[in-house]
Amino acid sequence: MKQETRIRHWTVADTSTVSKAAKEVGSRIDIKLARSIRMRGENNSMYGKKHSAETLRKMRVAQLGKKQSAESNRKNRLWQLNNPCKVFSNTTIEQAIAKALTNKNVVFRQNVNLLNIANVDFYLQEYRIAIQCDGCYWHGCPAHFPERVRAYDKLQDAALARCGINVVRFWEHDIRENSQQLIDSLI
Ligand SMILES: [Zn+2]
Repeated sequence: MKQETRIRHWTVADTSTVSKAAKEVGSRIDIKLARSIRMRGENNSMYGKKHSAETLRKMRVAQLGKKQSAESNRKNRLWQLNNPCKVFSNTTIEQAIAKALTNKNVVFRQNVNLLNIANVDFYLQEYRIAIQCDGCYWHGCPAHFPERVRAYDKLQDAALARCGINVVRFWEHDIRENSQQLIDSLI
């Protein structure tokens, strides 16, 4: 019985070739990819079916209170660092800071992954300064959203500081008020 199920999944010829080739070079990611391709469409045992509301509820309950291992937390964090959220990049406040930096002839890079610790909005290599433009809502600014405290930001800043990089955070409302003044006071 088990053998039959296995044969059914191996019907897509080209993906099994991918899998074999991947095994030869020992690439786990390619093996996973090939497996995922094999399980797509009508090859998937769930093809054309839907989980019932009751099954969905059970699946949700089964996940409750489960914690991820430190290893998978680390992997998720790395994945997020290397796949930054594009929706919130180059926002109007970031554009304002970029303009202010350009006015001062400061060399900078945008959206930089620093040492796999944090993705910073701006990095000024010459000064070893990272600038983060924090949205009032998402980062819980004390003036507008005091109830949304973000401890994680502080952890990131401390980790970068240990590596000799100063992190400067500007609030959205300050940037909107006068971005040039913020940069002038910094450099
Ligand atoms: Zn604010």
